[in-house]
Amino acid sequence: MQSKLLTWFEQQRRDLPWRGERNPYAVWVSEIMLQQTQVETVIPFFERWMSRFPDVTALAQASESEVLQHWSGLGYYRRARYLHQAAKYFVDTHHAQLPCTQSEWLNAPGVGAYTSAAIASIAFGERVAVVDGNVKRVVARLQRLKFVMNDRALHVAAEQWSQQQIESASCAAGDWNEALMELGATVCRPRLPLCEVCPINESCQAHQEGDEPTAYPLPAKRKAFKKMEIDYVWATREGQCVLLPRNQGWNLGLYESPTREQWQGEVGELLGVVSHTITHHKISARFFAAADLDEHRQHYCDPSSVPLSGLMRKWLARCPVSDGIFELPTASMR
Ligand code: SF4
Repeated sequence: MQSKLLTWFEQQRRDLPWRGERNPYAVWVSEIMLQQTQVETVIPFFERWMSRFPDVTALAQASESEVLQHWSGLGYYRRARYLHQAAKYFVDTHHAQLPCTQSEWLNAPGVGAYTSAAIASIAFGERVAVVDGNVKRVVARLQRLKFVMNDRALHVAAEQWSQQQIESASCAAGDWNEALMELGATVCRPRLPLCEVCPINESCQAHQEGDEPTAYPLPAKRKAFKKMEIDYVWATREGQCVLLPRNQGWNLGLYESPTREQWQGEVGELLGVVSHTITHHKISARFFAAADLDEHRQHYCDPSSVPLSGLMRKWLARCPVSDGIFELPTASMR
């Protein structure tokens, strides 16, 4: 089974910009970006990031505002802050040399068991198993394990099985880990597994027993969404608008229009409503016109010069600048 999986990986793996040269910095950045985010979404962000912050020193020397600006659009901004903090940590304590073992990586801000194992095995060949959602799904189907997806018992079973495979294999640990994750991402997919072309279908209990593979693992219960309403004030002047960095809750440090509570002056008509989802919150954001434009004159800025929240980018997409003035959303876009 090992050789079938590895041969398949060699021939079929996707050509991704962080694969190939085993640059630990590139592996680290890609693994953090890929948390909660699709590969296709990550690729342009990764390329832009690597051209601006090509190594750990360049990242450590950047301002947090610039780091967030390069992350803007990927969501879960805490990941960017941790990357930045960890880069400073490696420059300060490791002379900008990235460590080669999982245990050393675990000391860095924002690096947990999954990321540390991925970097140590893929970039440095440490023989340690990587377990993500793809690996858990493949192992649950191979062994017909009826665990819930986020059950710790499934994580332990997947880790033990994969670690045994690594220890008995002669291949590079990183290749094994990447092959297993790639199989889960492209063949043993959550809803439509491609069992007929799967390189290890002869070893798969779910397939061999004629079970429906999607019955494994059991789905995790979804957290209920919480509805929230937030009122913002939209104040513009000659292609600039009032934006303030968020100083509490989610999206810390990202810029948005002032909320109704932050705005000291009068407000006018309702201009539009933006629906936005963040973690487990469904936000309905109402934007009101500012009636008093002088009140916050020191906060007018060009929105392209600051890191924006996803919600704010959605609103700005409705208000393009034309002849140096923000247009108001048309009736159909409100
Ligand atoms: S045979 Fe099907 S269920 Fe089994 S590992 Fe392959 S794709 Fe997944």
